[in-house]
Amino acid sequence: MDKTILTASDLWTNLSGEVQASISKQTYATWFEPIRAVSLDENSLTLEVPSKFYYEWIDRHYRRMLLSKLKTATGKDLKVRYSVVVSEPGNGEFPTEPDTLVEQRGSGQNYDSGSRLNKRYTFDSFVEGSNNQLAKAAAVSVADSPGQTSFNPLVVYGGVGLGKTHLLQAIGNKVLERLPRPRVHYTTSEKFTLDFITAIQNNNSAPFTERHRKVDVLLVDDIQFLQKKEQTQEQFFHTFNDLYQRGKQVVLTTDRHPSELYGLKDRLLSRFKSGLIVDIQAPNLETRIAILQKKAEDDSLEIPYEIIEFIATNIRTNIREMEGALIKLLAYSSLSHSDITMSLAKRALRETLGRPGTKTVSIEDVIQSVSEAMDVPEKKLVGRGRKMDVSRARQVAMYLSREIVGTSLENIGMHFGGRDHSTVIHACRAVKGKMKEKADFCRRVDGIRSQLEF
Ligand code: ADP
Ligand code: MG
Repeated sequence: MDKTILTASDLWTNLSGEVQASISKQTYATWFEPIRAVSLDENSLTLEVPSKFYYEWIDRHYRRMLLSKLKTATGKDLKVRYSVVVSEPGNGEFPTEPDTLVEQRGSGQNYDSGSRLNKRYTFDSFVEGSNNQLAKAAAVSVADSPGQTSFNPLVVYGGVGLGKTHLLQAIGNKVLERLPRPRVHYTTSEKFTLDFITAIQNNNSAPFTERHRKVDVLLVDDIQFLQKKEQTQEQFFHTFNDLYQRGKQVVLTTDRHPSELYGLKDRLLSRFKSGLIVDIQAPNLETRIAILQKKAEDDSLEIPYEIIEFIATNIRTNIREMEGALIKLLAYSSLSHSDITMSLAKRALRETLGRPGTKTVSIEDVIQSVSEAMDVPEKKLVGRGRKMDVSRARQVAMYLSREIVGTSLENIGMHFGGRDHSTVIHACRAVKGKMKEKADFCRRVDGIRSQLEF
C-alpha cells in the first residue's frame, strides 16, 4: 500500500489485527476494541481512548508493543498520541513520555470544547428507572423546548454519582443537535466562581458576562459550591435574571434540595423555587443491573449476567462507584489474562468497597465451586457414581452446603441425587475428620469455603 495515502483507520485496522493476534481475546476486547484511530500524520498516530484510566493502562502495558508494531507496519518511527474522551474537563494533564504524546484534553472528538460537553452523556445512554423518571422527563422536555416550558430554571438534585451531571449534559447535547455550540454553555459553579474572580481581578468582566449571557441554554453543575460566596451569587442572580427575561433556559444541579443549601441568598432561592425542582434518588436493583448491562453493551463487553448482578447487588448508592468496580474487574481480567469470573469480580469489589461483598450462597453455588476447585463435573457431583474422587468431592460439597447454606439435611440430600439425611450426616463427619487429619485437605476445603463466603 502506498504509505502516503494510508489513513489512520487503515493503519489501525492493520495494527490492531497484529495486536489481536498476540494477546488474549478478553484483553483485546477490554483495552483495544474501544480505541479509535483519529488521525495520522508524518510523525504520529493519534488514538482516541475512553478515559484517562485507559490511557494509563495502555501506555503502561502496551506501549512498547504498539510502537514496535507501528514500526513494522509503516517502516517509520512514529509516535503514538492519545486523545481522551473527557468527562470532567480541565483537571490536569497526563505525563508525557518522549514517544507518547498526549493531546490537550478536550481535543477528543467526544468532547466539545465550545460548549464543554461530553458527547457520551446523552439521553440514549441514560437508563430510566423509577428513581430518575421525573428528572429525566423534565430534562427531555426542557431539551425539546428550552425556555418554553414552566421548568425554568430546572433544578435537579440528588446524591453523589447518581447521574446529575449526565442528565445535565444530555440536555446540552440534545439542544446542540439543533443549535450551534456557543449557544449552549456548560459550567460548574466552581468554574463560574473562578472565572468571575478572574474577571474582577483583571478589571474586565465583559468576556465573562458575554460568555454566560449570550446563550440559549445555560447549564450550571453543582451549585452547592455557591454557598456563602455572596458576590458570586449576586453575579449569578443577574445572569439568571437576564437569561430568564429573554426566555432563555437555565438548568442547575445540586447535591441537596435548594432549601437545604446553607448560605444561599433568599432571593436566589426563591428564583430556584419558581421553576421546577426534581430529585434523583438511589436506583433500585433492577435499574442498577440495567445500567451495568447498558455500559457493557455500549462498550461491547461480554460480562456474565451473574457477575453484573453481583456488582449491582453490592453497590447500592453510587453509580460511579459501580462503574468503577466494573472497570477494575476488566483491568484484573486483562492483567491476569483470564476470563471474567466470579472470583475476579469479588476481588474487584473488595477493592472498591474496602470490604468484601456479600451474596446469598445457594447449594447450586456450592456445587459449582466444588466442581471447579476439585475438578469433578457438576453432573457427577449430583449423580450416583461412587468413584473415589467423585465421592470425596460430593462429600465436601455436602459438608459446605451444611456449613454455609444452613439448609436442612433432607434438602441437601435431595440436591445430591436424592440421598437421605443420614448420608449427609455421614459425609459431614467424614469431611470434618479428614480436615483434622490432613492439613492439606483442610486448606483446600477452607479455600473453597472462603471463596464462597467471600
Ligand atoms: P453526579 O453528577 O450525580 O455525581 P454523574 O452524572 O457523574 O453523577 O454519574 C456518575 C456515573 O454514573 C456517570 O458515568 C454516569 O454516566 C453514570 N450514570 C448515572 N446515572 C445513570 C443512568 N441512569 N444511566 C446510565 N448511566 C448513569
Ligand atoms: Mg456531577
